[in-house]
Amino acid sequence: MLPIVYLNGQYVPKEEAALNVADLAILRGFGIFDYFRYTQGRPRFIEDHLDRFLRSAKLLSLDMPADREALREAVHQLIQRNGGGDGGIRFVLTGGYAPDGYTPTRPNLVGMADPFQGPPPEQYETGIRVILHRYERELPEVKTINYLEGIRIQPMIRQRGAQYALYVDREENIRESDRSNFLIVRDGKLVTPTDNILHGITRLHLIKLAAELDIPVEERTVSVAEFMNAEEAIICSSVKGAMPITYADDIAIGDGKPGPITRKLMQAWPEYAARHEG
Ligand SMILES: *Cc1c(COP(=O)(O)O)cnc(C)c1O
Repeated sequence: MLPIVYLNGQYVPKEEAALNVADLAILRGFGIFDYFRYTQGRPRFIEDHLDRFLRSAKLLSLDMPADREALREAVHQLIQRNGGGDGGIRFVLTGGYAPDGYTPTRPNLVGMADPFQGPPPEQYETGIRVILHRYERELPEVKTINYLEGIRIQPMIRQRGAQYALYVDREENIRESDRSNFLIVRDGKLVTPTDNILHGITRLHLIKLAAELDIPVEERTVSVAEFMNAEEAIICSSVKGAMPITYADDIAIGDGKPGPITRKLMQAWPEYAARHEG
């Protein structure tokens, strides 16, 4: 019977969980989602993720068919019905079936519990390589299902021997990566952009963890020039946790190895995250 999917208030086997082709998610890429991990059957930062999911819906004027309490219940049901253990919860809210192919109607709400697959462990040891790519996400504060540019440039990223792209805006500032937030270390301080980004829950909690570890944090814009001269750089997301960036466009960041503050955060992260599960 596994896996079991939540679809508009029902729990159904995944192969039976179907949406009509008239959904605006298919026709126009209109919809939102959220994603978070669970370990040993316990969801991580669940209230923060529900906050953001509800906020994304509001920003696109999509009517959420379930309230916060019902969403929370769906999370626990999904985990239980899929055997507990470790995984990731993905909620998707679509534009719904549009008779005219354009106007949102009643959204469809889907919830899935998928096996968790993290990045290759060696990437935390060596760090990752990024390319700089000129792009500004549309509606940066909304977690939309639209990853047109990020997916389009995947072959280019691979061809250049990198794993991810950092998005550079018109003012030559770096905002974030395609599915991750972005931080640097400058003069021993953690610096991270805060305007026109998707407010990641991992970023939020890395800032709190830094405070616990007495690492000063500044939230402000970061230029490309400042990044290229940074002591350390990090991308972070629910899937990755904190990950060192060691090369950008084939130029070393710092000494091209994960730095001490990055390693300190990576080391403390699992215990910190475990304290926020349940
Ligand atoms: C999901 C996402 C992030 C990271 O958010 P987390 O809540 O930490 O997983 C950052 N940027 C974009 C564009 C995203 O879609």
